[in-house]
Amino acid sequence: MNKTKLTPKSKNISNWYLQLMELAELADYSYAKGTIVFKPYAYAIWEQIQKTLDNWFKQDGVENAYFPLFIPYSLLEKEKTHVKGFSPELAIVTIGGGEKLKEPLVVRPTSETIMYATFSKWLKSYQDLPLKINQWCSVVRWEKRTYPFLRTSEFLWQEGHTAHLSNDLAKKMVLKALNWYYKLYTDYLAIEPFIGQKSSAEKFAGADETYAIETPVENGKSIQSATSHNLGQNFSKAFNIQVLNKDNQLIYVWQTSWGLSTRTLGALFLAHGDDKGLILPPKIAPYQIILLPVTNDNKVLSLTKKLEQDLSNDFRVRTDLKLKKGLGWRITNWELKGAPLIIEIGKKESQSKQLTLKIRNRDNKININQQNCRQEIAKLLDELQTDLLTAFRKKKQKLLQKVETKEEFIKAINQKKFAKAYWCESKLCEAKIKDDTKAVSRVVELDNLNQDDNRTCFYCGKPAKREWIIAKSY
Ligand SMILES: [Zn+2]
Repeated sequence: MNKTKLTPKSKNISNWYLQLMELAELADYSYAKGTIVFKPYAYAIWEQIQKTLDNWFKQDGVENAYFPLFIPYSLLEKEKTHVKGFSPELAIVTIGGGEKLKEPLVVRPTSETIMYATFSKWLKSYQDLPLKINQWCSVVRWEKRTYPFLRTSEFLWQEGHTAHLSNDLAKKMVLKALNWYYKLYTDYLAIEPFIGQKSSAEKFAGADETYAIETPVENGKSIQSATSHNLGQNFSKAFNIQVLNKDNQLIYVWQTSWGLSTRTLGALFLAHGDDKGLILPPKIAPYQIILLPVTNDNKVLSLTKKLEQDLSNDFRVRTDLKLKKGLGWRITNWELKGAPLIIEIGKKESQSKQLTLKIRNRDNKININQQNCRQEIAKLLDELQTDLLTAFRKKKQKLLQKVETKEEFIKAINQKKFAKAYWCESKLCEAKIKDDTKAVSRVVELDNLNQDDNRTCFYCGKPAKREWIIAKSY
């Protein structure tokens, strides 16, 4: 195989990312416009994410279910803001079985409407609450400009949908889901995202409030990485979801929905990595340890086999037996793919009590004792996990810049920074900022949520109470 040379990340992050799709075997472009194939290596990361989240959801009493892919158009129309928000990107089926359909079917862009039409039949009494349903599926949103993992016409996600007896309970659920996402990003993906609330212009179509986490990238662009919505009673009124409360009165339920998609893979690939390729955090990497036998000498192969058996109890291990490729090629290949730890096994190792290790973020090789290698490896992987988060935090800090005036803001955006500024929060001002600079409000961080300062908007000069994160969108 003669692979093209990888563009250095420091030189052009966009080229670097697109080249890695092929070089690191993450994705292939597919045959319908805007669609990609998730190759096994990338899909395995998604499975790690699924396992982690699914576990937390279930511990909280969330149950998995599955609702149909097709939504009758009339259902989508029931919540007016919702259909308005989604209509530009809908895929609609008009012919079925060779006949024109009486009613067009929408390929789900999200499942609020199809689920809530059914919830109205399920829910009768306060004793049926809270209802907590999650669905793992794919959704379709017609995209004009596509970018692997970050923007594709079909993507995979989970969507959680809950119903509660009060607004307070719904709000608690919204923040709980948001914190799951934050924890997944911080503790597993070694990404510390911005976490906060969206502006009214940027919130989900049909929600009272939208919360989000946002991943900053060094090209000055922000990746909306997961969202959690307080739907209030907007959908329960549209779909007539009522229960009898303790006083035997009919009330509309309070609802939430929250989702995390395969965009997360895009955020993960962009967040770490260097000129050699990806760097995957050990907690989420498909393989934490790659065993590379140097020769097909019997002693070498039997030590490899033994290590694979021993280490597989505690780690995700893969042995690369493509000996004909040569050691150098295989090391480069696994470095491209961001494998956290490579162990080379040659004659020297088969005759001594030593192992030769290479940690993805360090240049020098490390020798450790074979005897207690398990503890030593666990320690090295933990260190890599921590190093990646620390490096990400530093990068985030460097990207963030406080600004007070329009001029400072434009300069910051041109320098690919994330601005933090007092903003008036008006839709008009937001539209003006977007027109002039392509930047949009990302979130008001949770720490700034209750700010009530007496300041002026950096852009229009009107009164402003809170500081917002503002940047371009990926
Ligand atoms: Zn303003």
